[in-house]
Amino acid sequence: MKDMTFTLTEEQRVLKAAVYELCKQYPPEYWRELDAKREYPDAFINELTKAGYLAALIPHEYGGAGLGITEGGLILEEINRSGGNAGACHAQMYIMGTVLRHGSDAQKNAYLPKIATGELRLQAFGVTEPNSGSDTTKLQTTAIKQGDRYIVNGQKMFISRVLQSDLMLLLARTTPVDQVKKKTDGLSVFLVDIRGLRGFEVRPLRMMMNHSTNALFFDNVEIPADSLIGQEGKGFSYILDGMNAERILVASDSLGDGRWFIEKAVAYSSQRVIFGRPIGANQGVQFPIAKAHMAIEAADLMRTKAAKLFDAGEPCGPEANMAKYLAAEAAWDAGNACIDAHGGYGYAEEYDVERKFREARLYKTAPINNNLVMAYVGEHVLGMPRSY
Ligand SMILES: Cc1cc2nc3c(=O)[nH]c(=O)nc-3n(C[C@H](O)[C@H](O)[C@H](O)COP(=O)(O)OP(=O)(O)OC[C@H]3O[C@@H](n4cnc5c(N)ncnc54)[C@H](O)[C@@H]3O)c2cc1C
Repeated sequence: MKDMTFTLTEEQRVLKAAVYELCKQYPPEYWRELDAKREYPDAFINELTKAGYLAALIPHEYGGAGLGITEGGLILEEINRSGGNAGACHAQMYIMGTVLRHGSDAQKNAYLPKIATGELRLQAFGVTEPNSGSDTTKLQTTAIKQGDRYIVNGQKMFISRVLQSDLMLLLARTTPVDQVKKKTDGLSVFLVDIRGLRGFEVRPLRMMMNHSTNALFFDNVEIPADSLIGQEGKGFSYILDGMNAERILVASDSLGDGRWFIEKAVAYSSQRVIFGRPIGANQGVQFPIAKAHMAIEAADLMRTKAAKLFDAGEPCGPEANMAKYLAAEAAWDAGNACIDAHGGYGYAEEYDVERKFREARLYKTAPINNNLVMAYVGEHVLGMPRSY
């Protein structure tokens, strides 16, 4: 592609600064308290929605800002760079793309404007199951059509923000795997209104970090047939379609985490005096921070490349996957450097390093674990034999 500049436009700089300014009203104590109680950051999310940031990727005609994935990424990055946790809201940005690309006009008109205003929240994405994990096509939740309804049965695992959402994007099998040519056929995507759904049970899981994650149980749950997105049986390709956006946005979360760790580590190690000089003057402290900074900057280049390709409508699978991997690893290294620089204080809750450390760790594992990114690069980029 021709336009490969790495400087932000004036509008992007203004957007970044405005998001950071809004985030500053939610200081570390706010996130620390919610983390201890494992509560959702409702006040923050409502303000972010009111300011229009969560509707950044929704086109103007549906009441959104009509911005690109580049800007969506900058918003999430700034939330994490400020010390917050964009994990509470990032999913809406990548889930709604499935509705936008594959939903009917009626679905788009019914839901997108309300998602843009915040009247409806779409933050839940139900894919993972206890018996299939990363092997998505083996999922066992079924949705069987009966007249004007689908009857859903099964279980989902680690599904986040369900209790904070009105709508959930659900992947379920509509044709048994032994009746389809390819295992990727026969899966369908539904946009389910989960408010007051009978037979639907949500069991919150206490996780390592505050992520509003749950196990879900569907017992003969009836959903209207018009909850189906696009064509029945084509759901897996619709989900794959949204993966590049997801990878780029999650890479942005990690970049924000990494930058927060580096800023914290630099500030602390420059003022902490031990043996008569700032600890940051010691190469054992300084070099891991410098190294982590270089890795974050390099990952940012890959994120920017992936986002620019995505926004130009060009293929970006390798770049989006590599950005996710590189940013998650770089943030993890930055987190370790930050904890090390803080000594014992790195483990004290009031310094927030341990909280951010737990939050940053997630992106090595979810939404896709880094082993599978390497498997993707090995197979699809380098043409090596398939391992999965
Ligand atoms: C906090 C949290 C929130 C989440 N939120 C959501 C959500 O909202 N919606 C949703 O659908 N899911 C969600 N997930 C699930 C997440 O996407 C899965 O955990 C992830 O996809 C992996 O599935 P699994 O945990 O069953 O691991 P498994 O698939 O069982 O894998 C376990 C380990 O084996 C390794 N492995 C497996 N196969 C291979 C292979 N072929 N080659 C190399 N290594 C391999 C993996 O790297 C991994 O380390 C969430 C998870 C967490 C922890």
